[in-house]
Amino acid sequence: MTTLTLPLVEACPKKMRLGPCGGVGPDGGCEIDPSHACLFLEPEWASAQAASAPVTPATHRTAPGTSAFQDRLDSGAFGVVAEVNGPDTVDVTEFVTAAERIAEVADVVSVTDHSGATVHMGNVAATAHLLARGLEVMPTFGCRDRNRMALQGDLLGIASLGARNALLVTGNHPEVGDSPDATPVFDLDSPRLLQVAARMRDEGRYANGRPIEERPRLYLGATAHPFAQPYDDRPGQVLRKVVAGADFVISQHVFDLPLWRRFVDGVNALRGDAPPFHLLGGVAILPDEPIARRVNAGLRGFSIPEETLTRLRQARDPQAEGITIAAEIVAELDATDGVSGCLLAPVTGRSNALTASAEQTELIAEVRRQAGVPVPVSGAAS
Ligand code: SF4
Repeated sequence: MTTLTLPLVEACPKKMRLGPCGGVGPDGGCEIDPSHACLFLEPEWASAQAASAPVTPATHRTAPGTSAFQDRLDSGAFGVVAEVNGPDTVDVTEFVTAAERIAEVADVVSVTDHSGATVHMGNVAATAHLLARGLEVMPTFGCRDRNRMALQGDLLGIASLGARNALLVTGNHPEVGDSPDATPVFDLDSPRLLQVAARMRDEGRYANGRPIEERPRLYLGATAHPFAQPYDDRPGQVLRKVVAGADFVISQHVFDLPLWRRFVDGVNALRGDAPPFHLLGGVAILPDEPIARRVNAGLRGFSIPEETLTRLRQARDPQAEGITIAAEIVAELDATDGVSGCLLAPVTGRSNALTASAEQTELIAEVRRQAGVPVPVSGAAS
């Protein structure tokens, strides 16, 4: 349980219409006020919210060949995503150099959007720096900090810079990050943002119907939360996001394999009701038991099993054990029907844990080697 300052929730703090978000606790508690159940666990409340924001199915899908990452997944090869935070400095030399190295071991570099509700360089600027070096980039856009006008403007902006992928999420509430007094926006939630982006992509129109002269060509992604309650609804939520316009879906970090397998079976059972899409699993590379316990306590939406924590504690070289654990999970994902790739996320003890670094490259490369998922010749570097 976290110590949070919000008063009792009377409505969803993230103003979701098509929830629940991925922050629901194992006991069904709300991400923002764990003493209250997530409102979406009340079927009547959930259906009233959904009725107020029906999903309009996307009319088209992203055309083949829109992005190199799409080509990789469509080819049937196992796709690997690496993610980086923007740097905490105006001097981007180190950030760009490290990201170029990461791009050698991943198919696409995802640039987060103040991940964990923590401030870093903005993702449009960080994306521009990486595009200028010819990298395959996927900026993330969350709903916490921008209203629909700013989101549409930035989607058009990153497409004009040359980005061909975008990952669309609801995002953490400011309460869980380093600026808890920040005003949350949540004008949209991720399914509705997907709908808006898909309309821009497919119809060449903003959400208000006004035409866009040249539409953005974007391979659109969403996130899935198999390890947050209500578990039985999570495959259906993937389907709703795909119908809204997602071309691929990346899950929260996989640790609980039985729950993950149940989720994948549920998603595969629903595939016939949705356009084709790719499912990828998130995989964290843990450095040692104390940091793993800190992450476990601080982040909602997944839990690291005690067995994994024990392996890290008993290992002579905990980092090597963390790599082995991650490689075992990646190997399982690679062997699973309906799973097209993974997001590999080295966890570090640094204050900007995900900023691009040489360490990330080495960890990702080693996990890939042990998992039998070889590094492609060019990766996200062109
Ligand atoms: S857990 Fe998430 S979706 Fe549920 S009420 Fe809280 S903020 Fe809203």
